[in-house]
Amino acid sequence: MIIVLRPGAKTTEKKHIIKKMKEMGFQTMVSEGLERTIIGLIGEEDLLRTLPIEAMPGVERVMQVLKPYKLVSREFKPADTVVKAGNVRIGGKKIVVAAGPCAVEDKDSLLHIGKEVKKAGAVILRGGAFKPRSSPYAFQGLGEEGLKYLQYVREKTGLLVVSEVMDTRDVALVEDYVDIIQIGARNMQNFNLLKEVGLAKKPILLKRGLMATVKEFLMSAEYILSQGNFNVILCERGIRTFEDSTRNTLDVSAIPVIKSLSHLPVIVDPSHAAGKWEYVSALSKAAVAAGADGLIVEVHHKPEDAMSDGEQSLLPKTFSAMMKELKPIAVAIKRTI
Ligand code: PEP
Ligand code: MN
Repeated sequence: MIIVLRPGAKTTEKKHIIKKMKEMGFQTMVSEGLERTIIGLIGEEDLLRTLPIEAMPGVERVMQVLKPYKLVSREFKPADTVVKAGNVRIGGKKIVVAAGPCAVEDKDSLLHIGKEVKKAGAVILRGGAFKPRSSPYAFQGLGEEGLKYLQYVREKTGLLVVSEVMDTRDVALVEDYVDIIQIGARNMQNFNLLKEVGLAKKPILLKRGLMATVKEFLMSAEYILSQGNFNVILCERGIRTFEDSTRNTLDVSAIPVIKSLSHLPVIVDPSHAAGKWEYVSALSKAAVAAGADGLIVEVHHKPEDAMSDGEQSLLPKTFSAMMKELKPIAVAIKRTI
């Protein structure tokens, strides 16, 4: 249920409504729009329906959000959310690009890749320190040491860093080192992990599960918002289909679909969608044209020696060429990159 306040409702009226709702046992979330304030209520819907909320001063109307996700919905917040991380804004006019290796391997190569992707226009460095590998015998990541290398490159280059957390016990540790906490596709429905990062102060990059519908994806985001963390970036990274010529199938339609259903920014990972570096540039262009707010791309200076996902990693020079080709597409849809 959401309470829409009338334009110009007084702060005292708003405070009164919130106080009253809290006394009745509801959790309240406030969305301040340019014209209107909306108060989201989480709690017993049946009880809510019996309350004469529309009689309260300052209330314009009460709406029931029929969808299973509330706080992530456009009904709750009509205006686009712009997530702030350091000096970067995700969800605004500028399309934001994160790039870097699949996994953090060593300090020197990370710095080398960081400098290259920055030169090409990336503003965020990606790199996994905790790696979700399909095989338990594959390289699992450097753990905290990897996070330290990310922080080192962050200081040297001024790039922000994003890295994945896989375990509730590591959330505080990862949060200490990174600017954006990533939840990987395989953990999209790890509800305890979602609740834990919902309590974090840093923005969350939530990747769509391999077999998740858009509705399930948005419900996972709802878990994070319901704990108070509204800084969530959604990432379409390809889904499993019958098609096996690519690693996954990039669901380009998810971009406009999510944008119509939710206020949260949407970025695209063309690397895990394609699985092959040759297709990454075309998928990136499609993503930008379809309205993505950003990209997260795997880049490695020696893909053949990469400890993971070398086959889908772009060389720095290919990444740089792609960034140039994306510019006119961004301009065509009145954005910048
Ligand atoms: C990653 O981005 O490092 C990753 C493992 O991707 P995904 O969770 O989308 O498979
Ligand atoms: Mn990878």
